[in-house]
Amino acid sequence: MHNPEHAIVVVGGGPTGLMLAGELALAGVDVAVVERRLNQDLEGSRAGGLHPRTIELLDQRGIAERFIERGKKHQVALFAGTVLDTSDLPTRHDYWLALWQEQFESILAGWVGELPVTFYRGREVTGFTQDNTGLDVALNDGGSLRAGYLVGCDGGRSTIRKRAGIDFPGWDADISYLIFEADMAEEPDWGIRHGERGIYALGRLEDGKRVRGVVTEQHLVHGGKPTLDELRGALAASYGTDYGVCNVTWLSRFTDAARQAAAYRERRVLLAGDAAHVHSPAGGQGLNIGIQDAVNLGWKLAQVVKRISPDDLLDTYQEERHPVAARVLQHTLAITALSRGDARTNALRKMMAGVMEMDQPRRWYTSMMSGLDICYGQNEGHPLVGRRMPDLDLTHSSGPVRVYDFLHDCRPLLLNLAEPGSIDLGSWANRVRLVDARHDGAWELPVFGLVAAPTAVLIRPDGYVAWAADQTQAGLVDALTIWFGPPSAP
Ligand SMILES: Cc1cc2nc3c(=O)[nH]c(=O)nc-3n(C[C@H](O)[C@H](O)[C@H](O)COP(=O)(O)OP(=O)(O)OC[C@H]3O[C@@H](n4cnc5c(N)ncnc54)[C@H](O)[C@@H]3O)c2cc1C
Repeated sequence: MHNPEHAIVVVGGGPTGLMLAGELALAGVDVAVVERRLNQDLEGSRAGGLHPRTIELLDQRGIAERFIERGKKHQVALFAGTVLDTSDLPTRHDYWLALWQEQFESILAGWVGELPVTFYRGREVTGFTQDNTGLDVALNDGGSLRAGYLVGCDGGRSTIRKRAGIDFPGWDADISYLIFEADMAEEPDWGIRHGERGIYALGRLEDGKRVRGVVTEQHLVHGGKPTLDELRGALAASYGTDYGVCNVTWLSRFTDAARQAAAYRERRVLLAGDAAHVHSPAGGQGLNIGIQDAVNLGWKLAQVVKRISPDDLLDTYQEERHPVAARVLQHTLAITALSRGDARTNALRKMMAGVMEMDQPRRWYTSMMSGLDICYGQNEGHPLVGRRMPDLDLTHSSGPVRVYDFLHDCRPLLLNLAEPGSIDLGSWANRVRLVDARHDGAWELPVFGLVAAPTAVLIRPDGYVAWAADQTQAGLVDALTIWFGPPSAP
């Protein structure tokens, strides 16, 4: 029997897998998603929103408005209960967008549905074997697929990571929490509290009546489906009453364990999103960095599959994204430690809140939490190199445009801000889009501040700067070769 064949098979159609599939399809690559769920319905609300860099990435593809119109903007970042202003972040999206994961996934799936992506829904990948030219991917219905590359976007318990033999080192859980959505017969104490072991909180769901809550368990429990009795016990231990909790529509357990894949790649297998890193939801980063992984990996994988770039371009995925998740893990450990309610931790949290409210630490923290301060590589030369390209207003022959308007199709962009026609892309002309434009305002980067305006910028499809010119075009050919293949490539 002939097995269906795809250049890339993505395992898991959650936020990361959907975004990756969209990126690959935009870049013109044959991609299939295998997803266990029949649709995007989720049990419980899970992730609560999007950080500025994630919204920028969606804006780069021209789809940010679809999410913004369904969410709610808040110009704040939270630090261990302290509310920090984000309104001076130098971005169009200087806010956190409240939007539940189920809505996010459904909007994202709508976009992916407009692109040529094959879906195998209601099926699971159970294993795979690799050879020199590809992989045979086994499905739970007895069928199989042939793939050039396999990407595990299959969540924290990733089958792909385990089958690839990739280690998942990190920190074991210290605390377990119950998260739930329910009715309560009595009016509860709303808001966030700090108990001896950690945070607990009760808030209203959108209907204004039902409750979404998180409570720490008195003893660490690993996995397993929590029971209503366990929820009642945890509420009583924290609040002295269970408030008559009833009609529970979602009850789940999570812990503060933090783990990260030792490698993001094993030959033709790659990992992204929760499959590559898990941590406590404190700080609300998981979904966001999964989307950012997908956007970093998509165009690189597309270029390798199309033989534009050598296979080792894929190694830059781990080099760039592993440190980002490692930093998020450290951050969640710190926030978890600060969430304890003993007298000493309370004093430390108060002191840290005072520091964070000062202008420089606030700018540092909000830039980090927003994902806007990420700098890939060594950052030699112009300060823009390795950093995200700001979405500047441009004057172009077609009229006023924004930089991100030129990134919608997931292609590299060379923005010439000097004399029109002064750059010749030579052999790269069919791979890199050249745009002559003008920008008259300042160039400001998060944390870094103002930078000298370059005369040209080479921008990767993920919106990060590969090269920037002060006056000369020195280094342009090297940057084009490293990121967009040798001159002889197709
Ligand atoms: C309580 C809670 C609150 C959170 N709050 C936030 C927040 O505020 N902000 C934030 O950014 N993140 C938050 N997160 C984290 C966020 O939910 C995850 O980081 C995000 O879902 C990761 O997306 P993913 O696509 O990588 O993995 P998943 O969402 O886990 O998706 C994996 C997909 O793979 C499928 N799958 C698994 N195995 C297979 C297989 N073998 N074959 C086929 N399909 C398979 C699954 O069905 C699933 O659809 C929270 C998480 C929890 C639990």
